[in-house]
Amino acid sequence: MVGNTPMVRINKISDETGCEILAKAEQCNGGGSVKDRAAFFLIKDALSKGQLSAGGTVVEGTAGNTGIGLAHMCLAMGFKCVIFMPNNQSKEKIDMLKTLGAIVNPVPVVPWDDPNNYNHQARRYAESLKNACWTNQFDNRANKLAHIETTGPEIWRETEGKVDAVTFGSGTGGTISGVGTFLKEKNSKIRVVLADPQGSVLYNYFKHGKLERIPGSSITEGIGQGRVTENMKDAPVDDAKAIMDVDAVNMTFRLLHEEGLFVGATTGLNVFSAYELAKEMGPGHTIVTCLCDTGHKYYARLFNRNVLKEMELLDKMPEIYHQYLHD
Ligand code: PMP
Repeated sequence: MVGNTPMVRINKISDETGCEILAKAEQCNGGGSVKDRAAFFLIKDALSKGQLSAGGTVVEGTAGNTGIGLAHMCLAMGFKCVIFMPNNQSKEKIDMLKTLGAIVNPVPVVPWDDPNNYNHQARRYAESLKNACWTNQFDNRANKLAHIETTGPEIWRETEGKVDAVTFGSGTGGTISGVGTFLKEKNSKIRVVLADPQGSVLYNYFKHGKLERIPGSSITEGIGQGRVTENMKDAPVDDAKAIMDVDAVNMTFRLLHEEGLFVGATTGLNVFSAYELAKEMGPGHTIVTCLCDTGHKYYARLFNRNVLKEMELLDKMPEIYHQYLHD
């Protein structure tokens, strides 16, 4: 249940722009997100390197989807799963990981260069155990390989080679870097466009070579970065877009209203980027992105009227979408 997800056409914005705007429905993976692909390849990598054997423990630093993917697979494969996560994460995610049998360690929110960052804590914990591995999604290139070997070839096959551009947000960078690398080998003219949220440095890195943040912080979870990871460092990015929360959120609700797609805000960001790209490139192009996961995990925040009001997003949302909000 990992990969070979459906490719769906986003009908209304395709008709509006005259482009084919297509998206891999990654919420159809068993663990419910695009990160199942990385999780599967990270475990396979640890097994092939002899870092893990029967009854062992998988340790990861993750704010959500990678942990959920790993926890499912650990149950199926008979491993223990230990997750270190920043302590500002939603209760839904912690509860879900616990339900999936993972041991969850919430730790203080500190940046990457602090030794107590959740990733370093995960590494040290794995080193302290026998038969345990730290899967290291940010810097282990087995993550990127998942998209070179699965997502990229699926997009090529399903568009019969007609894809003109792809666009994705980046958390670890595995998706955009892996898909981009595979597709560029097939046809170097395929455009690879990064979609970056508020608070991330990647937009300025790829546009201007500077690690400078887009101002603000974002309601999106799981994308945006403060550094260039091993998975992202040689991503064949042709262009980058800074996407504001208001546009990502309004597109998330547009997808719900027009297409019946209940997705999270990183999907709204991806599809908004594809929509902008379609308008720039003009009619007749095929643009592919992905639906990263569903709206369930974000229900308490993203679909809550008061949270959107506090974030000054409610009054920028078309009235017609207010019917989908709860108090
Ligand atoms: N969307 C969501 C919801 C995610 O959890 C993630 C990964 N954290 C991404 C997008 C980005 O994927 P990647 O890590 O491959 O860049």
